[in-house]
Amino acid sequence: MKGSLNLGRVSGIKIKVHWTFLFIIIWVAFIEINQGGNLQSVLFNIALILVVFLCVVLHELGHALTAQHFGVKTKKITLLPIGGIASLEKIPEEPKQELLVAVAGPFVNVVIALILYFIVPVQQFLADNLTNIIENLNALTLTNFFFYLFVVNVMLVLFNLIPAFPMDGGRVLRAFLAMNMGRVKATQIAAVIGQSIAIVFLLLGMLYNPFLILIALFVFVGAYGENKMVQQIELLKGHTVSEAMLTNITLLKIDDTLASVKDLILSGTEKDFIIEQEGKPLGILMNADIINNSNKPNMFVGDIMKTSFKVLGINDKLKNVLSLGELQKGYFFPVLDANKKLVGAIDLTNINEFILFQSKLEY
Ligand SMILES: [Zn+2]
Repeated sequence: MKGSLNLGRVSGIKIKVHWTFLFIIIWVAFIEINQGGNLQSVLFNIALILVVFLCVVLHELGHALTAQHFGVKTKKITLLPIGGIASLEKIPEEPKQELLVAVAGPFVNVVIALILYFIVPVQQFLADNLTNIIENLNALTLTNFFFYLFVVNVMLVLFNLIPAFPMDGGRVLRAFLAMNMGRVKATQIAAVIGQSIAIVFLLLGMLYNPFLILIALFVFVGAYGENKMVQQIELLKGHTVSEAMLTNITLLKIDDTLASVKDLILSGTEKDFIIEQEGKPLGILMNADIINNSNKPNMFVGDIMKTSFKVLGINDKLKNVLSLGELQKGYFFPVLDANKKLVGAIDLTNINEFILFQSKLEY
């Protein structure tokens, strides 16, 4: 996601905050001022928001570090106004591992809530009568700060355990189901349950709170996407890159000009190209770079080609290629045979075509 500020690294995992996060701080300050707050109360609320998001980062780190334990890397954790996202390279397919990775996030909030429960202490706080509690909550005290934080962490646990994708509860449910049936079946059932919950949210949202409509949409799309992804991976299982790669491709030489590439693009259907020398890929020429430099027809392709790129082998597993982040971003990979000789290329369009053919074979 573009426009993120780096906050640092924890155990090699980048922590980023998206610029739209600023809105939530401005919004909180605006609401507080609107309700007759002063500088102190505004700062109190902003501090609360920042600490809440610190809890969200710790939640995501719970997922990421547990995944790391099972050998799955996390590229980054991004903070958005709606919450955090840990970009895991893949979801562990072993149900027990998936279960632990999914539970680790909410577990962090349980621990935080427990600690705060004793610091506040919550039991004493709630022992008072309701009128007093509500009046007490208006004061800008450290006890209130911790009490609010306690409530938020409890809510984070409850919200995340709703058994619907993309919430952690959806993964927990799928992992439990997958222990007794195949992963594809388990995902299908979990997706149906998730989408049913989304419909309930939608109805409740229309009656009571528009915010629930937003969550319903989020859950509905999440369940659909997860189900589709798992089915696609299933269709790719047991197949290798050599079965889906492009072999009918135009190879460029380092001193070909952009004018000749433009002719190639217009006269055919190829968009990205490989620059080859003696059977080896020297670089890749991405469509965006060709377009951006199209006002320089005499430029050599060697001047704008990417020289750092990933190559794949003909025997690499297609299902692993699908989960490559670079593929999802529209990258194009040269494919080499066992002797490191260039034999083809592969991209997302290719793999999608292959999935389409496979799905017609199976159903
Ligand atoms: Zn989570």
